[in-house]
Formats: sequence, C-alpha cells, structure tokens
Amino acid sequence: MDDTRLMRYARHILLDELGIEGQERLLAARVLIVGAGGLGSPAALYLAAAGVGRIVLVDDDVVELSNLQRQILHDISGLGRHKAQSGRDALLALNPDIEVQALVERLDDTRLIALAAQVDLVLDCCDNFATRHAINRACVATCTPLVSGAAIKFSGQVSVYDLRDEASPCYHCLFPEADDLEELRCATTGVLGPLLGMVGSVQAAEAIKLIAGMGEPLVGRLLSVDALRMQWHTIRFKRDPDCLVCARRPPAEAGCSGD
Ligand SMILES: [Zn+2]
Repeated sequence: MDDTRLMRYARHILLDELGIEGQERLLAARVLIVGAGGLGSPAALYLAAAGVGRIVLVDDDVVELSNLQRQILHDISGLGRHKAQSGRDALLALNPDIEVQALVERLDDTRLIALAAQVDLVLDCCDNFATRHAINRACVATCTPLVSGAAIKFSGQVSVYDLRDEASPCYHCLFPEADDLEELRCATTGVLGPLLGMVGSVQAAEAIKLIAGMGEPLVGRLLSVDALRMQWHTIRFKRDPDCLVCARRPPAEAGCSGD
C-alpha cells in the first residue's frame, strides 16, 4: 500500500480489528449498490470514502429538486441528470482512488443475477418491494451477501442476509412476498432526511464489516429505528424452512450460479 493510501485510510488502518489487511480487502472489494437515492447516498459515500475498490451504482431515475432534502450524493448542479451518473461523479470527487461504474438501468431478474455474480456484496438501497425481492432472489441464486435497508416517515430498518452461510435467512424468509401488500412510498408519505443517513450508514458499516471480516454481522437480526422517539430495537429471526426463495437453495460449496 502506498503512502497516499496509508494516509487516506489511516483512521481505519489504526483500528486493530481492521488494520492493513482489512483495508487491502476493502480496496479489492466489489460492491453493487442498487439505488442512488436516500439510502444509497450515505451508503455509497461511506463505502467510497473507505476505499471500496469497485462500486457499481445502479439507478434509472433522474435527480429532482425534491430529492435534495435527503439524497446527499446529489446537489443542485445534478438536477435533471441521471442519479447513477451524478452519484458516480460525487463518489469520484470524494475518492479518485476507486473505480465507480454508473448503470442507468431498471434491473430485471436476469440482469440482477449477472451483476450479483460479479460482486462480493450487494446493498439494497431501493425504494420498492418488487425490486427488493428481485435483489434477494439474485443474491440467493449467487450466494452473495445482501445488506438490506428501508426507511419511510420516521421508521427505518436494516438487516444482513449472508447467503454464503447456510443458516442465514433470506429477505423473503422475513418478508414473504404478498401481492396485496400496500406499498408506502416516500413520494406520497414523506420521510425524515437524516433517518436515511442513519439507515444508509448502518448499511455501510455492515458492508465494511463483512468485507473486512470483523465483528458480528447483523445476520438473523432486524435492526429497527423509530426516529420520532429515537428508539432502536433488534428482533431475532430464523431462516424459514419453507421459504419459497431459499428453502431449496443448494449448499454454497455445491456451487452457486455466481461461482
Ligand atoms: Zn428465505
């Protein structure tokens, strides 16, 4: 590692649990971030700042004025630009030491599987259930760890699905897909700006932990925050043996389609 990197990442390298070895892993890591909005903004900024070597940022939306209250990856100069491209520029301005690929796409199942297979980790920073479930299916199919976050109004939640680990639940184990589920969207219900910072930052922290191989990931635990009362809770949950998505997944060593 050269002097510039030693200096840039010094406060992470100083952490015994992370050190040079953890930093090398971050520099070698490839992460897919789906969504460059409220959650994707803080998550991507922290991962770029931490020196995650390759970030693939996906979003098919454009930056609007009403996004700027919370989507801190973008500023007034980005209005009307695609979020993936505006986000890539912001990440590279923060850290030109990394590679950022911007994809202006709405991903279908096949594309998600192809992308998940090329990365070490996926961050779900999207804003709708259909995409969340599609991301989960792709991560199950490719045994790729998934860090999933969500926030609406004053409520947020995060969990980690380490799909390399046979005991780990998947997103669908916890939130079975239901056609009649009413979806709350920020566009119509509102969301507290800093709440996205809290949830997105937890996602970034969990991603760094998973990549560096330190601590205990938030696997089998759902962390929730009520920002109005500023209360955090954790509930534990297990893999659903009858889960329609992961119940029949092959053991990781038997070979995922991502291997
Ligand atoms: Zn499952």
